[in-house]
Amino acid sequence: MEYEKMLNRLYISLPKKGEASERFELPKLDSNVQGKKTIIKNFSQAAKAVKRSEKHLYKYVTKETATAATIEDGKLIMNGRFYPELISKLFTNYLKEFVLCHECKKPDTEIVEQNGVKVMKCTACGALNPVKRIR
Ligand SMILES: [Zn+2]
Repeated sequence: MEYEKMLNRLYISLPKKGEASERFELPKLDSNVQGKKTIIKNFSQAAKAVKRSEKHLYKYVTKETATAATIEDGKLIMNGRFYPELISKLFTNYLKEFVLCHECKKPDTEIVEQNGVKVMKCTACGALNPVKRIR
């Protein structure tokens, strides 16, 4: 019985042929408000999943929310209360600006430096997108 349950679960979690390998699931930030702080639980993981540095995402989030934050054990602890909807929206904007190719909208991009200027290079279509600086 237990074994059968396990098999079922295994079967369900197997990706359908040709689907999962093609598709790249964009991560979502998992956050909640605790007292006067907001915790993004999967901060480091999400940055890694989209191949951007924690530092870069950190800069973006703190600038957009105009608050201070610290990274602890892969979590981002922000001063202030920011509801999950806002954090998700913020991350969606980040992805649009810094992760998804502006031409083909695929996430197969990397940030490279060209003549001292940072550009986002798409490995899917070859487009070079200018990268906005986060101050
Ligand atoms: Zn592209």
